[in-house]
Amino acid sequence: MSATAAKENFYSELGRNLAGLREQGLYKPERVISSRQGAEVVCDDGRTLINLCANNYLGLSGDEETVRAAIDATEKYGYGLSSVRFICGTQTVHKQLERALSDFVGMQDAILYAAAFDANGGLFEPLFDENDAIISDALNHASIIDGIRLCKAARFRYEHNDMADLERQLQSATDKRHKVIVTDGVFSMDGTIAQLGRICDLADRYGALVMIDDSHATGFMGKTGRGTHEHHGVMGRIDIITGTLGKALGGAMGGFTAARREMIDTLRQKSRPYLFSNSLAPSIAGASLAVLERLSASTVLRDRLHDNTAYFRKAIAELGFTIKPGTHPVVPVMLFDAPLAQKFAQRLYELGVLATGFFYPVVPMGQARVRVQISAAHTRAQLDQALATFAQVGRELGLLTN
Ligand SMILES: *Cc1c(COP(=O)(O)O)cnc(C)c1O
Repeated sequence: MSATAAKENFYSELGRNLAGLREQGLYKPERVISSRQGAEVVCDDGRTLINLCANNYLGLSGDEETVRAAIDATEKYGYGLSSVRFICGTQTVHKQLERALSDFVGMQDAILYAAAFDANGGLFEPLFDENDAIISDALNHASIIDGIRLCKAARFRYEHNDMADLERQLQSATDKRHKVIVTDGVFSMDGTIAQLGRICDLADRYGALVMIDDSHATGFMGKTGRGTHEHHGVMGRIDIITGTLGKALGGAMGGFTAARREMIDTLRQKSRPYLFSNSLAPSIAGASLAVLERLSASTVLRDRLHDNTAYFRKAIAELGFTIKPGTHPVVPVMLFDAPLAQKFAQRLYELGVLATGFFYPVVPMGQARVRVQISAAHTRAQLDQALATFAQVGRELGLLTN
């Protein structure tokens, strides 16, 4: 075979695989938005849509104060660092943000990454080796799974949110030196909050550390928004918290790990995504710092988010839809059937509401749904309009009878 033909084989195989994804309905198209992120967004066809699918829980992504803080930080610190942190890429604003993050989540210290994906990717390998055990929830985020894969520790997986199975796995791991239980604080497909009280009790009984990824919680879960550990009253019992700056805390990008001082120091010395990747842009560091100051001074955004969530959850259930019960602003509206979920989301879109349909393999077979995410930025009028649109589509598709 000629070199050219060999190459063409490669590309035609990619083309066939893509066509296969499209046929199975698994191809992910990208919607183009021409406005800021917000409770409403303007699509490239010029229509304004109510947005129910951003992780913009506190409404800060397009917020004027956040944007202003990013501009101010850019003017003061410049556009970028052209360096990793330990060479010449650490500015005052990075140290201030690490201090503010660790204070906010109630830990001794914190370390910044370009993304939570990197925080999780660079967490396990420097801290644990073949003598140790990582005990991980079966539905943990992809970045946790990848991070664990990069580490030589023995891997134990417990059934999602199943405390009896977690205990069995801890028993299987008893001969290991260090043990760490690893879980998402909130599972984003269902809005399920990990049972941190029971997890911490098991960790105490078996001498394990506890790590949570609070990407869908930092800033708004718990009475003052510190996260799922505050929500469950276990602040002080969690050893490692990873999180993102790319969701509630302003939504640009960036991630962090918060823990005890000696652990964060170890990560600064050994964590590969930290050592071999650029410093967070000053605009992001400065805006994230301003966001944390704002959230520490007042819970008004967090309170509005939970009021909106309670309002929407109650109203959508009263319309006759089945939702996964809970309190988190992720509200899964269950349709069970994959084509139905797709059709439902498409019809919402045509009628001016943006929400995503999810089906197997992203969620279990037979558990297809339209996932709604509530924001503090939604007005009651927007939520009412969204609810009316859900009702209309529900009637059109024969799901609601009245
Ligand atoms: C979104 C998310 C991430 C990735 O965050 P980025 O900062 O966008 O990389 C990691 N873990 C969980 C649980 C998430 O929900």
